[in-house]
Amino acid sequence: MAMNRVQFQSGLSLPRFLQRYGSEAQCIQALVQARWPQGFVCPRCQHAGASRFQRGVQWLWQCPKCRAQTSLTAGTLLAGTKLPLRTWWLAIYLICQAKNGVSALELMRCLGVCYRTAWRMKHKLMAAMAQGEAGRQLRELVQLDDAYLGGEHPRGRGAGQWTNKVPFIAAVELHQGRPRHVRFDLVGSFCRQAVHRWAQQALCPGTHVVSDGLSAFTAVQWAGMSHEPIVVGTGRRSVQQPRLLWINTVLGNLKTALSGTHHAVKFGKYALRYLRAHQYRFNRRFDLAGMTGQLAQALVRAQPLSEPRIREPAEIRR
Ligand SMILES: [Zn+2]
Repeated sequence: MAMNRVQFQSGLSLPRFLQRYGSEAQCIQALVQARWPQGFVCPRCQHAGASRFQRGVQWLWQCPKCRAQTSLTAGTLLAGTKLPLRTWWLAIYLICQAKNGVSALELMRCLGVCYRTAWRMKHKLMAAMAQGEAGRQLRELVQLDDAYLGGEHPRGRGAGQWTNKVPFIAAVELHQGRPRHVRFDLVGSFCRQAVHRWAQQALCPGTHVVSDGLSAFTAVQWAGMSHEPIVVGTGRRSVQQPRLLWINTVLGNLKTALSGTHHAVKFGKYALRYLRAHQYRFNRRFDLAGMTGQLAQALVRAQPLSEPRIREPAEIRR
């Protein structure tokens, strides 16, 4: 059997990770580099350069022009954290290196923090991944499918409500016959208007779209795409349809990843975060070693999230 070049890459080993990010001083330095790769820039007046001093355990940068003081974490997703930065780096590492992500319980045990803290860290990291992937556009050749997350646990018999069931569009971009990027988006329903809005955001004009026969998918043409519907049978035959092979594989892997790692996920609330975290990992799967540094960068460049926003995300449905 041929070696799979994703599965057999060496990634970032734990000894190498500890060598790079084992001490608090290394983690601070690496985060400074991630946030200000060209050197400090004042977030208030954009002046470059500042004097750095320490207050308690915290390092502060003071702008010589407007006198504003900035901490390394202020204005980022790490704002207000009381944890050592090396705990954050370890969380980033664990989330990146695990193919299917890490549950809050596993994080709790590995990091030695309480469950509530582990849960918040995980959701902040997933939010950073989601922000990093929000603007991705697919191009060339894209296979498309309609899918649902959750729905196995209807709330209350007789209510008829599948409250945890979330519809989404899954898309995979192919390059030379192999999957290159994926994108997942929530939709209110699979109607033509929703598919049209989705295509405008998610696809580059001129993309060739292959989908099953779902009539709403014809709306990708309104957004300037060419469309090729494939009439498939039901059950096994539809999954084995070669023109839709990769989207079915991607969806199968997504569901295995979510059900195998995370238990009792509230998809009704957090579906987009889980989907985008999977998308983030998939789209960077050829560079496992670089992913840890990239996610740290995403974390200090993403907009801060208030406590209510972590718990009640304003998820976008098209
Ligand atoms: Zn300034």
